[in-house]
Parts: sequence; structure tokens; C-alpha cells
Amino acid sequence: MKLADEVKKMKAARFSVAAAIFLSVSKVSTALMLNSLGMLSSGVDSLMDVLVSTINFISMKQSVQPADSEHPYGHGKVENIASLFQALFLGIAGLLLIGEGIREALYVRRAPDFGAGILVMICSSIISFWVGRRLARIGKETDSPLLQADSFHFVMDTYTNTGVVIALILAQLQGRIIFDQIIAILIGLWVIYSAFKIFRSSTDALMDKYIPEDIQREINRIILSHSPEIIEYHKMRTRRSGSLKLIDLHLVTCKDKNLDEAHRITDHIEKEIEALIKNSDVVIHVEPCHLECPARKEACKFLYHPESGGGE
Ligand SMILES: [Zn+2]
Ligand SMILES: [Zn+2]
Ligand SMILES: [Zn+2]
Ligand SMILES: [Zn+2]
Repeated sequence: MKLADEVKKMKAARFSVAAAIFLSVSKVSTALMLNSLGMLSSGVDSLMDVLVSTINFISMKQSVQPADSEHPYGHGKVENIASLFQALFLGIAGLLLIGEGIREALYVRRAPDFGAGILVMICSSIISFWVGRRLARIGKETDSPLLQADSFHFVMDTYTNTGVVIALILAQLQGRIIFDQIIAILIGLWVIYSAFKIFRSSTDALMDKYIPEDIQREINRIILSHSPEIIEYHKMRTRRSGSLKLIDLHLVTCKDKNLDEAHRITDHIEKEIEALIKNSDVVIHVEPCHLECPARKEACKFLYHPESGGGE
């Protein structure tokens, strides 16, 4: 990955930690003052963001470390492991919120004056929306699963905050605290759902699930655009490690090519895929065609790719 991208990722991660600290402190303190479970659930959610964003920041520092002799594939998987922890923490928090919401609903209380809470939540919504959009943009630019998970959380906070605002207004108007508890339970469910999604994407990467099909189709297109110089390819394997996409495949080319020519086209295709697919690392194993060459004889034999440069 480019150095500029790494710097951008780190900056975004630091920014996300600061935003989460600010939001959680303002929400939790107001929630405790007003004794609002709905607001507290939103504050706990932001408090988790602090924890999660901090883990993200540390793991990102780790994951941009270049490959070394102990970790020749780089340190990208640290990001996926951190995301997995994030999912587990979120899942537990969601369960706690639901439990607390149900427990609280058993007591009948009159709603206090939620005016200050409503104001704090509206401001939080605006901040979360802005932070989420910013992280989403940088996450996309740098193709970082961590920043994308992080941004998803902030954008989601915008909705839950709006839900809390509506619940507090209803509680205020109706004089009944139950709306506050209902929103706490709903947020709990939402948190569990999002935890499950993050859990799935991080386990996919850890289990070396293939990269998205549209990227595989793009690789297919790049390789086949070099026929008849190449005859076919097979055994393509793809997986992810953090932002990095690892791709390997067998490429079949004419047996009459000498090693230098075969290597040249192989190297050329490796570089072309790496140039067109962001953050990819390609290894190609080259094979000779069978006796009955499926490629046209004149096209297949001693053909040089016009744009192929020298490899190493
Ligand atoms: Zn093969
Ligand atoms: Zn051939
Ligand atoms: Zn080419
Ligand atoms: Zn080479």
C-alpha cells in the first residue's frame, strides 16, 4: 500500500477515537443526570466506540508494518482479528442493553424533564453523521475493512440517536418513561445485528474466503485480454489480509516459448493485475500447453506482447 494511504488511514483512526471519546462523555454524563436508559444505551454504544476505535488504531499501526521474516505475508490480518474482537464486544453490549431495558420496564416511573438530553442527542446525531461519512470515504479510498466497520458504526449511531431523540420527546409529551426503555431495547437489537455483520466479515477474512466476485471477474478479464499469447488459466485462489488481496493462479502458455518469453508475459500480467486491482499481490505459476496446442499455431508461436516490458 502507498505510504500516503497509510498516513491517511492512521489519521482517520485517530480522528475516530477523539470523536468517540467526545460523544460518549457528553452522552453518558447527561444520561446519568437525567436518569435516561435510552440515552445511556446510546452513550454505552459510544463508549464501545472509544474502545473499538482505540483497538483499531493500535492494530492499524501493527497492520501497516511491512512484511518481515517472521510474517512474510505482512501484518494485515491484525485488522481482521481486531474487527472480530469489536464484534464480540458489541454483541455483549447489545445483550446487556436489552436485559437492562426489560428489567427497567418492570418499574413504572414518571418521565423527568428530558430537555437537555434531547439537545445533546441532536448534536450527537449531527456529529456522528459527519464523522461516519468522513470515515466511510477514507475507508473506501484506502480499502480498509477496519475504517469501513468503524464508519458503519458512526452512521448507525446517527439513526439510533435520532431514535433516542424521538423516544425522549414522546416520553416528555406523554409523561411516560416506557418510550425511553423501548428505544434502549431497540438499540440493543440493532447493536447485536451490526455485531453479527462485523463478525461475519472478519471471520471470512480469517478463514481465507475468496475476494468479491466482481473483482475476480475483473482479474479474469485482464488475464484473458492477453490471449492468444496466453492459452488459459486455472486454479485461481484469492484471499484477503487486512487491506491486501492475495491472488495466485496457474497460467498456461505455449510450450514453444522459451523461459524468458514465458516469464515476460507472466510478469507482465502479474504487474497489470497489481496495477488495476488496488492493494493486490499476485503470484503466477506458469505451465506449458499440451501437445495439441489449442491456440492457433501462428498466433501462439513466438508471440511477444507489444506492451510487455522486462521483468525480474
Ligand atoms: Zn496447473
Ligand atoms: Zn502452443
Ligand atoms: Zn497487458
Ligand atoms: Zn519474475
